Amino acid sequence: MKYKKLFIPGPTEVSKEVREAMGVFMIGHRAPEFSELYKEVHPKLQKLFYTNNPIFLSTSSGSGLMEAAVRNLTNKRVLSCIIGAFGKRWYQMALANGLEADPLEVEWGQAIKPEMVEEKLKTGKYDVITVTHNETSTGVMNPVGEIAEVVKKYDDVMFCVDAVSSLGGVKIPADEWGIDVLLTSTQKAIALPPGLALASVSERALKRAETVKNRGFYFDFLNFKKYFDKFQTPTTPTIPHIYALNVQLDRMLEEGLENRFKRHEEMAKRVRSWAKEKGFELFAEEGYESNTVTTIKNTRGINVSDLNKALAERGKTISNGYGNLKEKTFRIAHMGDLTMDDINELLADIEEILGI
Ligand SMILES: *Cc1c(COP(=O)(O)O)cnc(C)c1O
Repeated sequence: MKYKKLFIPGPTEVSKEVREAMGVFMIGHRAPEFSELYKEVHPKLQKLFYTNNPIFLSTSSGSGLMEAAVRNLTNKRVLSCIIGAFGKRWYQMALANGLEADPLEVEWGQAIKPEMVEEKLKTGKYDVITVTHNETSTGVMNPVGEIAEVVKKYDDVMFCVDAVSSLGGVKIPADEWGIDVLLTSTQKAIALPPGLALASVSERALKRAETVKNRGFYFDFLNFKKYFDKFQTPTTPTIPHIYALNVQLDRMLEEGLENRFKRHEEMAKRVRSWAKEKGFELFAEEGYESNTVTTIKNTRGINVSDLNKALAERGKTISNGYGNLKEKTFRIAHMGDLTMDDINELLADIEEILGI
């Protein structure tokens, strides 16, 4: 297989140090060594999530924890904010678990505004709200900080945020925003190989879970908490990922979280202005563009799969549009450990291939 640098919104490039950290000897997950490892990782994770809540390590992709959030916390009804494919997935998960749920959907490319949420929550019908922080299909970042101000007014509404494609690249202060479940995968802006997901869960959310009957087994938050109290996980975790996470968190903290967020913002600005300069348009509503992935409208009518084939020859790959947006849009991810040099090199290659 030929190596290609990943400019796709997950999995992302994984550094050599992180890959090597996965290849060390195994330990037992009930042995003290494992608890030591979890204990070492946990305060660093709390820094990354800006929270004092416990953070659970889930051996699943992020979708597992999305399902867990609605399943563990809903007694009444879920309000699912949908601005693209991943918001829709969360709504479908609620229904698939036999829960009552309503979509709050806007046209793809747009963001959810706090007033829309207020109008729904004031009906009193809901006890859970799900919001996608960064919609990877459309390249839109929802104003979660503003939405948080609305959700805070409703004491019994659990605030669940999918930050799969942004946590690690954008600041998301969980406690300040009153987020009850903040979840992410590790194969996107955290730049680990796929297979481990993370969620911070508030005390309020754990209290709610006590009142919910059908929490399931594998993703039962109360069981996660019971084992967390011993710095363990309910079932055998992907230990290699946790070694890797420990190394990657050190690298992230060494770079400095604020510097890391700034790097993401600068790469995003570069890609956005490049796209406009070259006669493309952005898919995202102005003011709500993602800092980790840019969805570009194919206003020049290029052949995206041909472009990607030519890029592969140069050892790089980008993403076509998601689902129905294929060929109508294409996506350049600028997240994880990618640098401005990587982005500049990619854009120069695209210019050469397209002759633009
Ligand atoms: C990738 C992605 C998911 C799904 O994550 P998995 O780890 O593949 O389960 C969910 N939400 C968003 C916003 C994503 O980008």
